[in-house]
Amino acid sequence: MRLDRFVCKSTELTKIQAIAYIHQAKVFVNGIAVLDEAIQVHESNHIQLDGEKLFPRAFRYILINKPANTLCSNVDSVYPSVFSLLDVERLSELHIAGRLDADTTGLVLITDDGRWTFAITSPSGKCHKVYRVMLAKPLVKDTAERFLHGIALQGEHALTLPAKLQVITPQEVLLTLTEGKFHQVKRMFAAVGNKVVSLHRESIGAVKLDVAVGEWRYLTDVEMGSFN
Ligand code: URA
Repeated sequence: MRLDRFVCKSTELTKIQAIAYIHQAKVFVNGIAVLDEAIQVHESNHIQLDGEKLFPRAFRYILINKPANTLCSNVDSVYPSVFSLLDVERLSELHIAGRLDADTTGLVLITDDGRWTFAITSPSGKCHKVYRVMLAKPLVKDTAERFLHGIALQGEHALTLPAKLQVITPQEVLLTLTEGKFHQVKRMFAAVGNKVVSLHRESIGAVKLDVAVGEWRYLTDVEMGSFN
């Protein structure tokens, strides 16, 4: 992580304060004063501030059941942010590992570990996200094959990655994606002449939603490690 982030994660300093200490040559990396707050450092490096070795706090990994009409953003606007449902310290250090639309409900993962987020959100991580979708009209027959083959969405260069469709009833399906383009589920169903009337994320990789609407919990070590 960046040096200024490492200092913040090991102290109660704000980013501005951490950068000021770095510019004053008070932060040493492996015995050398470093003035560039943006250099990448690792927990195995010996990092000192004013002669004291720094130990970063552990990363946090949180699961929340997002209610409808909440925002996956760090600030409240038309609707409250999902962060307003969390009673944890240093909220501003946390971010969402895969956003949902305001009207979408279900599983959202929240963390301060950027690498972990990348493993979940990057298509190269092939992490499966399962959505329960209610549709305005009964499915047309070739939808599953078209989703498996890939759909051309407006404004996108590449087809969508193969997606698995499981039919529960003609108007209720489970859709498994390994990518997260903007409004992807809604756009995929629009492309086959249908309309999503409700959307709920049930799982991300091995992590399943198991808390009530609006509730949250920390992930277990096994759940957290299942994305690496
Ligand atoms: N696809 C959508 O269209 N919306 C979401 O919130 C998530 C996936």
